[in-house]
Amino acid sequence: MSTTRIEVVTIGDELLLGFTIDTNAAYLARSLASVGVHIVRRATVGDDASEIASAVGEALERTGAVITTGGLGPTSDDLTKQSIAALFGRGMHLDEEHFAWMEERWTKRFQRPLPATNRQQAMIPDGALKLENHHGSAPGIWLEDERGRWVAMLPGVPREMRGMTQDTLMPLVRARVSADTVVRSLTLRTTGIAESVLADRVESMGGGPLGVSLAYLPSIAGVDLRLTVRDLPEDEASRALSNAAERLRERLGNSIYGEDDDDLAAIVLDVCRTRNLTIGVAESCTGGLLGARLTAISGSSDVLRGGVIAYHNDVKMELLGVSDATLAAHGAVSEEVVREMAAGARRVARTNIGLAITGVAGPTGGTPTKPVGTVWIAADIDGDASSALHRMWGDRDEIRQRAAQWTLELLRLRLAAPAS
Ligand code: AMP
Ligand code: MG
Repeated sequence: MSTTRIEVVTIGDELLLGFTIDTNAAYLARSLASVGVHIVRRATVGDDASEIASAVGEALERTGAVITTGGLGPTSDDLTKQSIAALFGRGMHLDEEHFAWMEERWTKRFQRPLPATNRQQAMIPDGALKLENHHGSAPGIWLEDERGRWVAMLPGVPREMRGMTQDTLMPLVRARVSADTVVRSLTLRTTGIAESVLADRVESMGGGPLGVSLAYLPSIAGVDLRLTVRDLPEDEASRALSNAAERLRERLGNSIYGEDDDDLAAIVLDVCRTRNLTIGVAESCTGGLLGARLTAISGSSDVLRGGVIAYHNDVKMELLGVSDATLAAHGAVSEEVVREMAAGARRVARTNIGLAITGVAGPTGGTPTKPVGTVWIAADIDGDASSALHRMWGDRDEIRQRAAQWTLELLRLRLAAPAS
């Protein structure tokens, strides 16, 4: 049976209780779209044999193609294999080869015999194909009936599930996919522009329809524009996406900082690296978040030299050299102070660039003239400083994260500006 429509059933009480977010279903949808498969329905059930069997049974009736994740572990709440074997009218047997492999792996790793409960993991339904797990001990299972209807069972642990999807599931699915079309997406990333402003600019764009579907996805990082094409042959899909992306880039220009998973911190670091520029940071309300964003990128040490968490005014004065008079005249959250902080960061870290942030993250500490969300940021490049006032929204965490992101954006735009 050829397959372009698949259903996903994720299994686990923790998913229903809301303690674990179902990232597996999202990952599967993205992976399968790339080979033209549509996930047409998703269900989540708890660790309950009859719920598993009915969800999988109904999905099989509709599409004949089902992927499950979870419930392959060694404990009594792991019921996926048994429930689905029963649905197919199959018994279970011990896979001697897998059991021997598990025993050997366990003894080598822990110098102890394999616990008896682990035997469960080597039990597989009669007539099933075992899917190798190079990332853990539970094998995945592929079970297919006489009519070619199939269920692929993957482990719940996201890292194992992802590995197995790429290593073994995708080739099996691809072999059964009759589609010569794909679903492709491309994301253009922006920050610091309101969703509605972005939409106005895009929608007033001339030149006819874009030929792709467009989604505006706001988050703390900014607004992403997701372009998607469906049901086109691979080369046409790529062409449609890149044409549309090019037109949007023409329209939005420098507002787009990157594509797909690009991280603004990594982009800024790359620009600095090619120009031999170094960065120092001075952070008040973000308490190190900006430094953390930069140090999260491997290789950042050749650009980021260090910085100061200048929370108390004493630290702003003593380490960064912010003047007593400036603080007294304008207050800690002010343009004058943020510029002196940025200059101080350059001096302390001995860098070309100083980045600084001072603001009111809330929920307490706001005043009528400086309400919660008032944030001053600055980027000082070789003594030439730009600063900006933002009125940010959201809770404390969101305000702090936005402040770090928008400071990176301020620097990116400064570096992109033609030298005056
Ligand atoms: P299991 O294979 O059911 O024993 O699941 C092992 C662990 O994987 C669980 O404790 C969860 O933390 C995680 N997990 C299971 N299902 C999902 C899912 N759909 N999305 C993300 N994490 C999951
Ligand atoms: Mg489980």
